[in-house]
Amino acid sequence: MNEYKVSALKYRPQRFDEVISQEFATQTLKNAIISKKIAHSYLISGPRGIGKTTIARIFAKALNCKNQKDGEPCNECESCIEITSGIHPDIFELDAASNRGIDDVRAIQDAAKFYPVKASYKFFIVDEVHMLTIQAFNALLKILEEPPPYLIFILATTNPEKIPPTITSRCQKFNLQRIKLEDISKRILDIAKKENITIDEQSVFLISKLGDGALRDALGIFDLAVSFCGTNIVYSELKEFFNLPEKEIYFKASDFIYRGDTKGILEYFSDLLERGFDLHTFYTGLTEHFRNILIVSSTKDANLIDESDVIKTKYLEESKKFTDGQLLRILQILFDDEQRFKFSANQRILLEAILVELCRINKEVVDLEKLISELEEFKKKTSEQGLANFKNVNSLQSKGNSEATQLNQEIVYKIEHNFPEPKVESVSDFSPKKEPIPEEKNNITTPEVSTKNSDDFRNLDNPLIKKIKSMFDVEEERINNIRKSK
Ligand SMILES: [Zn+2]
Repeated sequence: MNEYKVSALKYRPQRFDEVISQEFATQTLKNAIISKKIAHSYLISGPRGIGKTTIARIFAKALNCKNQKDGEPCNECESCIEITSGIHPDIFELDAASNRGIDDVRAIQDAAKFYPVKASYKFFIVDEVHMLTIQAFNALLKILEEPPPYLIFILATTNPEKIPPTITSRCQKFNLQRIKLEDISKRILDIAKKENITIDEQSVFLISKLGDGALRDALGIFDLAVSFCGTNIVYSELKEFFNLPEKEIYFKASDFIYRGDTKGILEYFSDLLERGFDLHTFYTGLTEHFRNILIVSSTKDANLIDESDVIKTKYLEESKKFTDGQLLRILQILFDDEQRFKFSANQRILLEAILVELCRINKEVVDLEKLISELEEFKKKTSEQGLANFKNVNSLQSKGNSEATQLNQEIVYKIEHNFPEPKVESVSDFSPKKEPIPEEKNNITTPEVSTKNSDDFRNLDNPLIKKIKSMFDVEEERINNIRKSK
């Protein structure tokens, strides 16, 4: 007989404290068992492969266990062993995906009429309950409305919104979360250790990530990796096995885009395709890559992305090449063209055009963000200088310096009119025969910036606002032209 068991089954949690990442549900159920406050129906929802039926089974086991302790089953008594092996006469598991009709629920109705054979509670665990037909739901509702005291329903689903509210309102609800990447990684390392398998950090990370929050999926991938690599799992082999693109590819692509190297990126892309690279993988990979750069660039924290430590460091470096504005623009293009790409008859040509567009836009578009911050810096500087001089003169004035009095008036005038003021270094800079205040027009050093009321940014006639707006218009037009000419 074949003794091989997949890891997800072999290492299926048998106690609440072995279930990872779902503390809220497991702790509440344990407390219910300890305080003997048991509801008649529970609804456990959440994505696939995260432990919904596992939790249901442990609950059934713990409630019927003769040696139950602190809400946990003993896993040794007859009842526990029978439930674990799925042969207990009072525990029914039903998959609503394949048994969705009224007859199936009638069978439950019939079975519910009789007292449990062995246990104190009779359990119906209905998986994917949202698949039931309306008639079946109505039949189920009849039982839920007046359940016999020994009957407990555990309804599990990936789509709780598809269940009629008449049903959900009668259930105690638990919404399970996706399992955290680090928890999946820990579990894989744990199992590898028990199975005497050596596995490197990058492989653990890769397998956990491919599991996408579902432990069952991750363990399935782990089993695949074991059958391919044997007892020594190394990243380079694994990557080849899953035919995964190296992260390096996207870092290279973003570097071409950063340098605006159209020729370079097209040659590189063509080379990738010759090596059998999948277009779709490249598109989604590139989008995710720029999304990661944006996250690191805007938060200055690489821990917010799901990557190994080596890659995180690379992202920190890469994020310095782009401003948030540039990244948003790149992502905008990738998102805008996503649907077109999916349904395009010639994806290669379209993707090439997108790559060229990304290179050109990044190279040609003046970074407006930088421009605005420069203008603001300039404005700040001028007003700060004016203020500094004003203070400087004030202190002179308090010493009774009459020369300063006139200067003070000049500066106050200038500040009021928002003129840039040369920095006053020391008292010797003041000469009594200083030129009188010139005509306003002659004194404007940056005519397009300084005028009356120029600090009122609510005023749309404000020249600074006008200038920024016209720059925006020019850039907008340029972007549109580049996109049109594609
Ligand atoms: Zn037991």
